[in-house]
Amino acid sequence: MNNKIEEELTAIRARRKVLTSAIERKRSTIWLLRLWSRFIRIRDAFRCLCCESSERIQAHHIIRKTLYPLGAFDLGNGITLCSECHGRVHAMFNGRPDLSLPLGAEQGDDQDEWAFLFGLLVDDAIRRDLPQDEFYYIGDHILEFSHACQGYEELRETVVRGDISRIRFAHEIWRTMPEGFYSGFVSELIRLNFDDLLD
Ligand SMILES: [Zn+2]
Ligand SMILES: [Zn+2]
Repeated sequence: MNNKIEEELTAIRARRKVLTSAIERKRSTIWLLRLWSRFIRIRDAFRCLCCESSERIQAHHIIRKTLYPLGAFDLGNGITLCSECHGRVHAMFNGRPDLSLPLGAEQGDDQDEWAFLFGLLVDDAIRRDLPQDEFYYIGDHILEFSHACQGYEELRETVVRGDISRIRFAHEIWRTMPEGFYSGFVSELIRLNFDDLLD
């Protein structure tokens, strides 16, 4: 492995450590989000994973934190986008979700968009040979929840065995999930997370 790649890995690891130890010390949400955002940008080599631009880049939550607060600091739930691509993603959904409406009624939370963004992370990790579960970790919640859902046991087992990474799992599950199953899944996600909603 050449020095440049080694240096890059060391820098990303250092950023990850800053974030994880701040989480352990229970620092404020604003502080943690700032560290999370820095980690995401350095991991993605300070460029938009959608269009490769390095102008006005920002870290974006793939599954937004109002819907999935337990994933607010998950490494695999963040992606670097330029402000233009970021704006396009958010144009699909603005503001807080109206939880009384059926999912999709507000034209947000497009499962294809999630699958697309998770897919960009997987592709970039493969291209740059980055360790997926170390730099793109996703918590157990999604795994555990999907365990209860018929048809995805096999996929979950591949993650438990370590055959596929968590980020790959996220890509596959959103890519393949049928529409009806999806709304049930997200309703349950909202119920599980509701008490912990962050801003
Ligand atoms: Zn965003
Ligand atoms: Zn872009």
